[in-house]
Amino acid sequence: MASLSLKHIYKVYPNGAKAVNDFNMEIEDKEFIVFVGPSGCGKSTTLRMIAGLEDITAGELKIGDMVVNDVEPKDRDIAMVFQNYALYPHMTVYDNIAFGLQLRRMPKDQINQKVLEAAEILGITEYLGRKPKEMSGGQRQRVSLGRAIVREPKVMLLDEPLSNLDAKLRTQMRAEISKLHSRLNTTFIYVTHDQVEAMTMGTRIVVMKSGFVQQIDTPKNLYNYPGNKFVASFIGTPQMNFFEGTLLKQGDEVKINFHYSDAEMTVPYSYFYKADPKYLDGKTVVTIGVRAEDVIIAPGEEAQKLKVRVSHREDLGAETLLYGDINMEGDGYVESSTRIIIKAKGDEEYRAGDVIEVAFNLDRIHLFDSVTENSILPRIPAYNYIDCKVENGKAEFLGTTFTFPQAISCRDGVGQILIPTDGISLGGTVPAQVLSCEKINGKYVAEIELGDRRLYAVKSEPVEPGEVMIDFDAKKLGILMDGEEVVTPMEEIISIKGKFVKEKRTEVVDGKKKKTIHFFFDLAGTKFESVDEISSKIFAVLNEKDVFKKDFRYECSCYDFTVAQEGIPATVKGIEDYGKEQFAVCEVAGKTVRIAIKEPVSGTIHLVPDIHKLAIIQDDLDIRIV
Ligand code: ADP
Repeated sequence: MASLSLKHIYKVYPNGAKAVNDFNMEIEDKEFIVFVGPSGCGKSTTLRMIAGLEDITAGELKIGDMVVNDVEPKDRDIAMVFQNYALYPHMTVYDNIAFGLQLRRMPKDQINQKVLEAAEILGITEYLGRKPKEMSGGQRQRVSLGRAIVREPKVMLLDEPLSNLDAKLRTQMRAEISKLHSRLNTTFIYVTHDQVEAMTMGTRIVVMKSGFVQQIDTPKNLYNYPGNKFVASFIGTPQMNFFEGTLLKQGDEVKINFHYSDAEMTVPYSYFYKADPKYLDGKTVVTIGVRAEDVIIAPGEEAQKLKVRVSHREDLGAETLLYGDINMEGDGYVESSTRIIIKAKGDEEYRAGDVIEVAFNLDRIHLFDSVTENSILPRIPAYNYIDCKVENGKAEFLGTTFTFPQAISCRDGVGQILIPTDGISLGGTVPAQVLSCEKINGKYVAEIELGDRRLYAVKSEPVEPGEVMIDFDAKKLGILMDGEEVVTPMEEIISIKGKFVKEKRTEVVDGKKKKTIHFFFDLAGTKFESVDEISSKIFAVLNEKDVFKKDFRYECSCYDFTVAQEGIPATVKGIEDYGKEQFAVCEVAGKTVRIAIKEPVSGTIHLVPDIHKLAIIQDDLDIRIV
């Protein structure tokens, strides 16, 4: 039984292949985690790094409270089950299961008890005297599960354990492995390329593609709230319908225009509150996604109807998949940006050539950026986009007047105010109403009613529904007028280029002269001594030959600097006052940055970063080392 923590984990193979990029995840004790994705996406590599069978290039892996990057596989308290069973052919089933325990010199009677117990759980008691070759694939996989169980590992790792089995046996073994998980009360990590296997077994699923984590979530959330088009298309059968089109906001409505057809539909703007208004300009091409079961036949609302010409049907018994096209000239046989699949009841009588009217379940429309493929209706949106009017240093929106602090100057006009979801605080002067609060991926997303709009606020603690007073964090606000950003949120992360350097010194240690080596972070020419823990992480990624030649990027927050006698020279160009907080606008190494200050500063100051809070990025390899 153990939790696991993976922080900024990377794997670069010696040939330069970057198999895993910045993998971050906290796994709780007793979870059943599934890594899923197409072949070559880095699932096995990640599992093998957890097992200790592959070195971790960069990052920190903890099992329980212990960092195990350099711990031998045998000392990690894990057990691994492979696709090819990896049984000893010359040993009986009993001996195969007992072997690991015998190596550990466990007393014979204890071994016997454990083997019999495991065999009982797995239903292979009667085969204990057989050799592996006398057993079927499913039985052999049970033996390798048995061998893992008897070790009572903290974590069970399973790498495609069912892919050698036929379809029927796979379904049966799936259920058995799930049962085993609940019986053993151990953390399971399971690798598969099969989305059905992932959906039916995992308490949480990690979807991977090309070495990058795409989304980590429960099966239900992956299905209902895919974070990008890849996840939307990978999870669920039949695949989600995707259409190309544009969205045009007209007052309280949005008109959706479907490309390559005459189809269009008008829906209330409230369904698109979470979308950045740049997508609602009637020009930017987006991908519209809707699942087959969310297409409704014979709808009521005229403005939301689409015409579909049916091309063929697949009768599945209780339900029927109708294939068609929203382009009357189109061909529902070929996947295209007008093809549509509709999940209908088994008794629907529609035939090839029929033209039917459909609508979408508007609560379940998905929208994706056509280039990045990321969802533009994210579950945790970054901003609230609200129409506003600016006059004399005040913004008016939703019946509220917000007076800009000294730091914000904005011309008069009408536009939109961007209020970040992490920039709404409770306990201010603006009365509002919390409608609900939902826990999403460890954060709490509150729906707040202000005027006639819903705002979203992201919090680390739950918020009770009811009346509240709220406030807005001025430094995080943005304002758009005529498509131009006239006020931009303050940049809180400061990035400084530099090197990692070595210095040899002669020092007196215990009364004797000694040569010592020191390592420093060089931030824009100013050196700060490293600490062993961070230096060793850097050396784990780059060898001595390269490490001092390479360019590094050091990042930290504007709150992580102190002003001191010595440090990075910075020229103060002004002070920005946000009311509750003040920032010095400084020029550092040719760049303008803002540093939080408690006392007034002027002229040239010297900045010292908190080195324990520095993010250290190696640019060529694109690896975040710390
Ligand atoms: P998956 O398990 O998702 O199929 P892997 O983790 O096995 O993917 O592989 C991820 C990527 O790393 C692939 O591009 C693969 O070719 C590469 N890779 C795997 N093992 C090695 C290796 N030993 N040396 C070099 N590249 C490797």
